[in-house]
Amino acid sequence: MSRWSLPPSAIPTAWFNVIPHLTSPLQPPLHPGTREPVGPDDLAPLFPMALIGQEVSTDPWIDIPGEVLDILRLWRPTPLVRATRLEKALGTPARIYFKDESVSPSGSHKTNTAVAQAFYNKQEGIARLTTETGAGQWGTALSFACSQFDLDLKVYMVRTSYEQKPYRRIAIETWGGEVVPSPVDDPNNPGSLGSAISDAVRDCVSRDDTHYSLGSVLNHVLLHQTVIGLEAKEQLEQAGERLPDVVIAPCGGGSNLGGITFPFVPEKDVRLLAVEPVSCPTLTQGTFDYDFGDVAGTTPLLPMYTLGHDFMPPSIHAGGLRYHGDAPLVSQLVRDGRMEAVAYPQGKVFEAAVQFTRTEGKIPAPETSHAIRAAIDEALAAKETGEEKVILFNFSGHGFLDLAAYDDYNNGRLPEEQG
Ligand SMILES: *Cc1c(COP(=O)(O)O)cnc(C)c1O
Repeated sequence: MSRWSLPPSAIPTAWFNVIPHLTSPLQPPLHPGTREPVGPDDLAPLFPMALIGQEVSTDPWIDIPGEVLDILRLWRPTPLVRATRLEKALGTPARIYFKDESVSPSGSHKTNTAVAQAFYNKQEGIARLTTETGAGQWGTALSFACSQFDLDLKVYMVRTSYEQKPYRRIAIETWGGEVVPSPVDDPNNPGSLGSAISDAVRDCVSRDDTHYSLGSVLNHVLLHQTVIGLEAKEQLEQAGERLPDVVIAPCGGGSNLGGITFPFVPEKDVRLLAVEPVSCPTLTQGTFDYDFGDVAGTTPLLPMYTLGHDFMPPSIHAGGLRYHGDAPLVSQLVRDGRMEAVAYPQGKVFEAAVQFTRTEGKIPAPETSHAIRAAIDEALAAKETGEEKVILFNFSGHGFLDLAAYDDYNNGRLPEEQG
């Protein structure tokens, strides 16, 4: 069988919590001023209590509310696809599967947590959310989710993207969200994710009816993404396939990676592989230390692999992978040797993306293409050894709003040294 998906009843009804499966205790976030562990009261101006509870929960499973499931059902379960045409082109004995998260309304996995976050805020009586967005993937996902729960949304979008990449801004506005370029007080400043976070948080704390929402890095975000791995595990089993030898995902802040890999953490023989750009090599070149989540140094200190909160990665097409840190949960699994990491330069990534497009048909997001590069290399290694390896990777999003990047690649305008 080359393609299948599960009946709608197979959508998971609980999220998988990886915290009880860690081999060393998770270090708490620290207050930036006192360096004491942050408590619920410190976070209450920003997040609803339900999410603050999920941040520290040690329950092995956390029920998905029915209202959230009803919305996830619009596109879940997502297809698990066997990439037989890619396998054939590679001449590999490996079996390659991908989990297609690009079928969500906003075109990426980010919608999975956006819906859950909007729900818990609505339930706590919040009327309005603020957030930041770089190229706009997170802003579009949250705008869709807010439309479902009748919440107002204000998105602070990095000014260069706001001006140069209008399509996601238009999508956010079409779902009903408001978008402003950031930094708001300096129209000549191109902006950065760090300054957009500062704008969104400042707006949030100035109003009682408003909370702030983050699309990656935090424990509750990765928790909400575990529907990806749970479905994939069951879909492989239903197809009569064994457990994968390796599970692969691109890593920016770590949310889609955590989502597909965490349900496989208890399976000791399954390798877990994070893929990042060489231009922002957080897991492969960074150090494990407490660091700020933003450039300005105002957020709590998180225990994570980091390149330093003032690290400015060069502009690459995989905007979603340009973050100086990584989720503490992912960082800890890498530090403890349970997860591996690899970095690729941009040219090699696009080469893989185009090979995928010309065999499997779908045009992947540049972020997603990092996982495709690694999956292809795993399959080519299996060809050398003749091993019938089973490879699973996350197709985190489509590339239809990133076609300018493909234009650069197709016309030789992608400098390899850019990473
Ligand atoms: C945002 C994004 C990523 C990276 O974010 P993570 O939190 O690391 O998952 C990867 N792929 C796509 C398509 C994205 O939009």
